[in-house]
Amino acid sequence: MSLLHFDDSPKDECGVFGIFGHPKAVELTYLGLRALQHRGQESSGIVSSDGERLSFHHGMGLVDSVFTSDILSQLSGHIAIGHNRYSTAGASTLENAQPLVRNYKEGQLALGHNGNLVNAIPIRNHLEKAGSIFSTSLDTEVIFHLIAHSRQRSLEDRIFDAFRAVEGAYSFVVMDRETLMGARDPSGFRPLWIGKLGEAFVLASETCALDVIEAEAIREVEPGELVTFRSIHQGLESFRFLPKKQNLSQCIFEYIYLARPDGRMFGQGVNSTRREFGRQLAREHPVKGDVVIPVPDSATIAALGYAEESGIPFDLGLSRNTYVGRSFMNPTQDIRELMVKVKLNPIREVLAGKRVIMVDDSIMRGTNSRKLVKIVREGGATAVHLRIASPPNKYPCFYGVDTPTRSELIASEHTIEEIRKYIRADSLGYVSIEGMLNSVKSPNNFCTACFDGQYPVPLHEGVPRQLPLISSY
Ligand code: AMP
Repeated sequence: MSLLHFDDSPKDECGVFGIFGHPKAVELTYLGLRALQHRGQESSGIVSSDGERLSFHHGMGLVDSVFTSDILSQLSGHIAIGHNRYSTAGASTLENAQPLVRNYKEGQLALGHNGNLVNAIPIRNHLEKAGSIFSTSLDTEVIFHLIAHSRQRSLEDRIFDAFRAVEGAYSFVVMDRETLMGARDPSGFRPLWIGKLGEAFVLASETCALDVIEAEAIREVEPGELVTFRSIHQGLESFRFLPKKQNLSQCIFEYIYLARPDGRMFGQGVNSTRREFGRQLAREHPVKGDVVIPVPDSATIAALGYAEESGIPFDLGLSRNTYVGRSFMNPTQDIRELMVKVKLNPIREVLAGKRVIMVDDSIMRGTNSRKLVKIVREGGATAVHLRIASPPNKYPCFYGVDTPTRSELIASEHTIEEIRKYIRADSLGYVSIEGMLNSVKSPNNFCTACFDGQYPVPLHEGVPRQLPLISSY
């Protein structure tokens, strides 16, 4: 789910959750969203159904500030979906908070989206010409209009019509007053899990949200699959609305940065994959050093991998203030720079007099790295070697990862040596694309567009796509 402007502007990351058939559906959704907080920190929403009507609440901020116990007690029912959203400035409005809820002729419908639709603009233009009125600036909203315009009778068939018209990245949770549904695009860009809690069924972006409510992880929704939960007895119904792509485009950046390490995704563990990136980094870019430190918390596991492979001791050289959110989320450069200091402080006892190998998961603008190298030197390090557990980020993501614009991505126009000079490190090394892909089980099934510019689903910038469903308008 992201905003509808299609230059190389930042896109949003999100977490989705859904539950069917539990008397405490609302509370469990709240807990699931808290576990998925890392996927979206700007706004949060829950929609629930008691079988008769939908109730909902959305707010700006973290899950625990949006949902007080009073608010939770006003939402009721045995079906619920929830959404956490993460975006950059300009997009920060309550109207864009999800799940979106709409009335159409068949009743109420709610929808939470993780990902980014690449042909939303031509579809929206087409729909607006035909008289549709949009009330958000989200790509996600076209789905509602396509569902409402569909001539099909059942909700599933209407949704299939909509999914066959859109392109790009989507993992959806959808509900009406009686049904919960989940779907993944045929390229499988973003994750979506199915879980079971007693007789109830659960959907979640990551397994940590299943763990937290003590649900059992069953399997991932297949790319091109829609799963429906209509009654406990009927259980899970599965429909294939589009053939799964022969080569999937699962997001490799989930392993690098986005996903929590305590889970599995795209068929393998996040922790072991991230650790393997660190090991590969050590093989590709060895350097003499006394201590390996991570940029906490996102690079901790990759740094452990680097230390294991190199035999150089691992330690924590930076103390993280856990009350500060991810520094990347602050829109202006000056504030972002100050935030680095608020967030991380050097541990002198670890750094003083040492040649430090500092491992980070990625470099976007380079601002963080430059600050951190300075901080580590202030902590007494005699040398700072920066190692990055992903390849140079040269291209923006259009499939749902919040990356800076192309011109802001330091690696898009600068060599590694120029970046090293800018961040003032003694040396700099990135893991290679091949090395990264060798660390995953099925390398042909990942999107690496942010590193190589090979966008697996073409970007539609205004060329109207054929829309057979509404072509009579
Ligand atoms: P910078 O190079 O200053 O733009 O920031 C790079 C830092 O941002 C890295 O240390 C990452 O941990 C973090 N980062 C990378 N990608 C993202 C993202 N999509 N959302 C939030 N933070 C990110």
